[in-house]
Parts: sequence; structure tokens; C-alpha cells
Amino acid sequence: MHGYTFFHRASRAFHDHPSISKLLVLFTISSGGLVAFSDAKPSHSVSAGAFQGDFKKKRVVVLGTGWAGTSFLKSLKNPSYDVQVVSPRNYFAFTPLLPSVTNGTVEARSIVEPIRNIVKKKDFDVQFREAECLKIDAVNKRVYCQSTQDTNLGGKEEFSIEYDYLVVAMGARSNTFNTPGVVENCHFLKEVEDAQRIRRTVIDCFERASLPSVSEEERKRLLHFVVVGGGPTGVEFAAELHDFVVEDISHLYPTVKDHVKITLLEAGDHILNMFDKRITAFAEEKFQRDGIDLKTGSMVVKVTDNEISTKLMKTGETQSVPYGMVVWSTGIGTRPIIMDFMNQIGQTNRRVLATDEWLRVEGCDSIYALGDCATINQRKIMEDVAAIFSKADKNQSGTLNVNDFKYVINDVCERYPQVELYLKKKQLKNIVDLLKNSNGNAQNESIKLDIERFKLALSEVDSQMKNLPATAQVAAQQGSYLANCFNRMEECENNPEGPLRFRGAGRHRFHPFRYKHFGQFAPLGGEQTAAQLPGDWISIGHSTQWLWYSVYASKLVSWRTRMLVISDWGRRFVFGRDSSRI
Ligand code: FAD
Ligand code: MG
Repeated sequence: MHGYTFFHRASRAFHDHPSISKLLVLFTISSGGLVAFSDAKPSHSVSAGAFQGDFKKKRVVVLGTGWAGTSFLKSLKNPSYDVQVVSPRNYFAFTPLLPSVTNGTVEARSIVEPIRNIVKKKDFDVQFREAECLKIDAVNKRVYCQSTQDTNLGGKEEFSIEYDYLVVAMGARSNTFNTPGVVENCHFLKEVEDAQRIRRTVIDCFERASLPSVSEEERKRLLHFVVVGGGPTGVEFAAELHDFVVEDISHLYPTVKDHVKITLLEAGDHILNMFDKRITAFAEEKFQRDGIDLKTGSMVVKVTDNEISTKLMKTGETQSVPYGMVVWSTGIGTRPIIMDFMNQIGQTNRRVLATDEWLRVEGCDSIYALGDCATINQRKIMEDVAAIFSKADKNQSGTLNVNDFKYVINDVCERYPQVELYLKKKQLKNIVDLLKNSNGNAQNESIKLDIERFKLALSEVDSQMKNLPATAQVAAQQGSYLANCFNRMEECENNPEGPLRFRGAGRHRFHPFRYKHFGQFAPLGGEQTAAQLPGDWISIGHSTQWLWYSVYASKLVSWRTRMLVISDWGRRFVFGRDSSRI
């Protein structure tokens, strides 16, 4: 489909449906208040390794101050906990704007919020320790940490903290797939420092290329920027770099600007493959028009200090090209500490920590994990099918009718979200229709299912199970969900509100975590953005860029950062981006 017509059609679709914009405005507003600040309260200093004060309070240790940890901290309201937060970063970083920091559209300082700003606004005890957790000891309920600060004696202070509840939110690291030379020679785009380093490297490449002694060949090499990975981050970075070069840098370095080349390498057949095909097609066409050299089906096999080698997936042919800077963005891998913890608790051969639907780490008592370092191991309905049957079959007759089933229907749908997805796929109204189908389209009243028919009816439901993506949206929702559980721990102890336990008596204490997807953006440069909204709504173009501005501004973590980012955007519109090396 032609990109231009598609853009028009898509943006028209967006305008024709005010409900979408309403939904987004609602989403924007509702998410704006991720932080609500109250009056400042100084925090006490507590010696490492011991909690002071009220020992009856349950001790909660939070590892990480990223999306999941910060969202947990902000939503935690119950003063009956003694909270310690451990993270090597004493700030929260708004990662979706990191690509904008790589070219100076937004300043690094504008997208971070000091964690102590958040902590001091709590009206109960929260301590922050700038340290890295080195080991979790699940048996003795203790975490071992190392301060990021050097002590007077040289070396770093080590200490341990005991917990009653542990919240693991340490995120993930960049994945190199063990490709030789990547760690030594490539830039990652994960932390604020990475973005700042990338910006400096781009400017350095231009300055070096402008020196009189540099040969033509060397100039070409220096100005060849390679992005590896055609996911949302790689694509957005390539687009931002292109805008930076075209809109700002080329005017300042007129003698070298014709040598600039941006290459995007992707091992798969297409970029943005988690998005709708129309968005992929639009992005690929746009990159082609912009002169970004998009090489799909190319896998990087080696990187040296000045050359990057790729293998063509189709022919197996390898090729090496000189480069000035490589940015590596091929997804996430497991942090060593999480790997070590998984081995300790018997979760071997896994990529991330497995939790249940209540975010409790499987096989552990009182440890929760959320965000990029964890994944929910959704329970299969077929594992519990016999238990569900016998719970529903209250008179133990060996058959179920509709009324029997109505007793458990809501609990089944809540506990096994794949049921709803399956019904949607099969275009069935409700689960009774599913049972009817397997009973030869019987009338409601005459449905009688024995266990074999019941199993048959549900046999394909589990095919609809999906892992949640590793995104800020998921991490933030999990953080506030878990905090709400903590807020109501005692209340729900005696008064459980979750679904029926099928393999036991009573109910689960809480409702399981349920993710709400609000849509996803893919900024493509030149003030154009693509968005995929719930219900497979697609919107691409300049209007979507404005939507992007408003959503991201509202999602920023505090009014301070919101003002800073908006003024950065304004500054960029008026004066362009800054090209100085600092
Ligand atoms: P993180 O946010 O990574 O936080 C992990 C925390 O743990 C950090 O504070 C870290 O310092 C700390 N930590 C690490 N090691 C230790 C240790 N040993 N001990 C204690 N603490 C430790 N998602 C979206 O939904 N939309 C987007 O537009 C989007 N854009 C992105 C753009 C970029 C460039 C990147 C890199 C990511 C983007 N994401 C986006 C993904 C999103 O940032 C992650 O999914 C999200 O950060 C996951 O949250 P988290 O809390 O699990 O991990
Ligand atoms: Mg019966």
C-alpha cells in the first residue's frame, strides 16, 4: 500500500473516531498523576544492615528504581511497612524519551526524577540506599548489597538487609547474543549515560571528520552510523539521528555532510515486526525516502573497533563495512544477579524470573518480582480442568449443567484470562456458548457435560496464552497493582476478594494482576509517528506526533520534569538542537 494514501486514510480514521481521541485523552489525564506529591518530610538515617524503630512493622525491601520499583513506591500508601529501597541509580529515568536525549532534543536532566524527591513525600518510613544488590538469600530472607560510593579506606561498603517481603524490580540488561566485539565496541541505549555518550560520540565523529588531515575514506568511515536492531528503540533512534543530521548538523558541517550515512541492520525480514503490517510498511517506505539504508535479513556476526561484519540470512554471505559509531539495540537479556537467583531457587534454564498471577516468585515465600526481570507464568486451564469440574459439580453427580457452571464462570474467567481471548477469537459470546458448541449446539437447559466433554470444550483455550511484553506500561501497572495489594494486605487476609481456589478451599486473597494495554507508539522522525491503539486502530502521521507529545508529556513523572521536557521541545522548535559536545 502506498505510504501517502495510507497516511491519509489512517489519520482520517483517527479523526472520524472521536472515541479514540477521547480514550487517549482520558488515558493521558488518568496517567498524568503517576506521582502525587505531598508535603516534604525529612528522612532518618538508618545504619546499614538494621532497621530502626518499630520492629513490629513488616520490612519491605525494594530492589530497583525503574518503572516497576518507582511505581510500586508511589502507590504504596499503607504506613504499616518499613521500606528500604536499594538501587545503584538514585533517580528514576523516563526511558521512552531516551532516544530524544541522544540528539539533544530533550536534556538528560529533564527526564529524570531524584528518587529522594519521591521518598521524602511519603508520610511513613522509606529509606533509600544507593547501592547494587549483589545477592539475594531467599532462605535467610536477606539481600547483600554493595554501595556505589567509595569509602575512605578505598573499596566500597558492603552491607546486608533483612526483609519480610522482597520486591525484585531490577529490570534487564542489553542482550548481545554473545556476538564478539559488541560489548567492547558498541553503544547501548538503556541508561541515561548511554544516551549522553551517544550524543557526544556523534558530535566527535563530525568534528574528527572535519579535520584537515583526514582522508576521504576515513571521513566516510567516521560518518557511517550503524543501528543494529529494528525494534521500536532502534527504529526511533535511527529516525532521531536522521533528523539531527538533516535538520541541524548538516548546516553546521557543510563540507562533510554529504558523507553521512545511516544504516539500520535487522536480522528479520521486516522492522517493527511487533506492530501492524501497515505501520511496518509505512516505516520502511519512510526510511527509504529519507535515505536511511535499511538492511533486513542481515545478522551481525562480529564487531571490531572500526568494522562491523554481517551475514546475509538468505545466502549466508558475509560482509564487513567500516563504521564511525554502532548503536546496539536488539532487545533485553537477563542480569547476572537474576540468573544467580534463579539457579538458587531452582528456576533453571529460564530467561526471566517466573511469577504467578499475583506476581509472587514461584517457589519462594514473600518474594515478588515485576517489570522486565520477571514474567507471569499464567496457569493453564487444562492443568486445573478436573478441579474446576468438581468445584462446579456441587452435587457430585458427575455431570455439569448450565446452572452448575454459572457458579464458577466469573472465577474461571478471572483466573484464566486466556478464556476471554479464546472466546473472542472464536467469536463466541460467553463460555456457555463454548460448552453448548461442544455439546452439539444443545439448548442451554439441556446441556449436560461429563468430564471428558468438559475437557474437550476447553482443550484449545490455552493456545491463547500470551506473555506480556517487556515495556514500561506493563512494569508501571505491575508496580501499582502490587502496592495496592500491600496497601490492603490485612484487609484481604480475612476477607479475600480474589477468585475461587480450584485446587483448595476458599478464595484467593487478591484479584490476580490483569494488564490493560493502552496502545503503542513508534516515532518515525520528521514529526511523524505511528500508533497502534487497542482494537487494532492504526494512526500514522503528524497528528499522531501531537498525540505522542501530549501522551508523553502527561506520563512524565512529576510536574517539574513535565515543565522541563515541554520547554525543551519548545526550545528545539525555536532554536534547533544544540551541537556542542557537552
Ligand atoms: P528498569 O526501568 O530498567 O529499572 C531497573 C532498576 O533496577 C533500575 O533502577 C536499575 O538501576 C536497578 N538495578 C539494576 N541492577 C540492580 C541491582 N543489582 N540492585 C539493585 N537495583 C538494580 N516501554 C514502553 O512501554 N514504552 C516506550 O516508549 C519505551 N521506550 C523505551 C526506550 C528505550 C530507549 C528503552 C531502553 C526502553 C524503553 N521501554 C519502553 C521499555 C521500558 O523502559 C522497560 O520495559 C522498563 O524500564 C522496565 O521497567 P523495570 O522497572 O522492570 O526496569
Ligand atoms: Mg451435577
